[in-house]
Amino acid sequence: MPDIEALKRRAREAVDRWAGELVETADWIHANPELGHQEHQASKRLADILGTAGAEVEMGTAGMETAFKAVLAGSSPGPTIAVLAEYDALPKLGHGCGHNLIATSALGAGLALTEVLGDLPGSVWVLGTPAEESAAPNAGGKVHMVRAGIFDGVDASIMFHPAAETTMTDERSLAARGFEFYFHGKAAHAAGAPEEGINALDAVVAMYNAVSMLRQQVKPDVRIHGIILAGGAAANIIPDYAAIRYRTRTDDADYLEDVVQRVVACAEGAAKATGCRLEWTEYMPPYENTVPNAVLMRLMKRNLESLGLEVKTKRTRSSRGSTDFGNVTRVVPGVEARIAISDDPAMPGHSLEFEKAAGTDLGRQAMLNAAKGLAMTAIDLLGQPETLAEAKRVFAADMGRQSTD
Ligand SMILES: [Zn+2]
Ligand SMILES: [Zn+2]
Repeated sequence: MPDIEALKRRAREAVDRWAGELVETADWIHANPELGHQEHQASKRLADILGTAGAEVEMGTAGMETAFKAVLAGSSPGPTIAVLAEYDALPKLGHGCGHNLIATSALGAGLALTEVLGDLPGSVWVLGTPAEESAAPNAGGKVHMVRAGIFDGVDASIMFHPAAETTMTDERSLAARGFEFYFHGKAAHAAGAPEEGINALDAVVAMYNAVSMLRQQVKPDVRIHGIILAGGAAANIIPDYAAIRYRTRTDDADYLEDVVQRVVACAEGAAKATGCRLEWTEYMPPYENTVPNAVLMRLMKRNLESLGLEVKTKRTRSSRGSTDFGNVTRVVPGVEARIAISDDPAMPGHSLEFEKAAGTDLGRQAMLNAAKGLAMTAIDLLGQPETLAEAKRVFAADMGRQSTD
């Protein structure tokens, strides 16, 4: 049996040795934000460093140019642990979700594990997963990777997300879907012949108001939020085309289907009322709820605590988003470590404050701790086959319960 504690110590020391390069890379990605599926520089930079460290790197995984799969040097037959990297930014907000830190936590864990894998059975992959944010067209890199079967060869998957406080909870992310509604009307002179026009902007406004009313008549965990994509070309022309994009989310995927039908009904009603023709599309794949694995949570919590972090089991501010990691946690056991990058437990995600925090020393420190926590958790799983087997048993039981919900 490998000496788990000795391997963990070596992995921690490796992260400390790589700290300069990890911080420099995190800061560089922070200063050079790239939107989903356009993260050419970030993905290349990570893949190059892993390749130099001996990993076998494949770019363009699952048909996405900015995805990659790096099989670490020292990997051998046996179980496979995937450490996931994200690196996409938000429009106008840059790294307001701190994915620059996720990227380098996975890189750091990969570099540290490279040094100890020779003494462990099994493989570690660092997977570069593009376009987590639903802001990019055809977002959801991990969903595309699940669909391409990339996780078929994986036994557990682990990642880090920066947060307002350090927590390990079984709170699930929200299931989410995204739709765009396009209304087609008829242009006419807005002063000279408005009665000749069919006003597509009116349809969008009617739909927006109907959805705003719907919000009161749904369960409290439902979120429906949108932006107007097009609302006409000039004030003196009746808009012949207008469009709106919505995301809908709930805790319960079945109820989400119900909510979606009601949102579509709002669009149909608006089209009918205004005389517009409606088209709509689901513009990105659904994100499923996360299924946090209790065994992986326990390992990760203990490893983060061994670094001196205080890991709370309840969030001060229960703020639930959605993630394409949800889809991953439904095909293999998974856990996402959340580590504070700020002193303010109420700091909102997707904000300027968050963007700033992702470039501070607290942020960098959280990333280095995450790299260590991820590496140590992978060592636990590869070094103790019974622990990995337990995680898989819990996963099977969780998924059995999910399907009978
Ligand atoms: Zn985000
Ligand atoms: Zn994020």
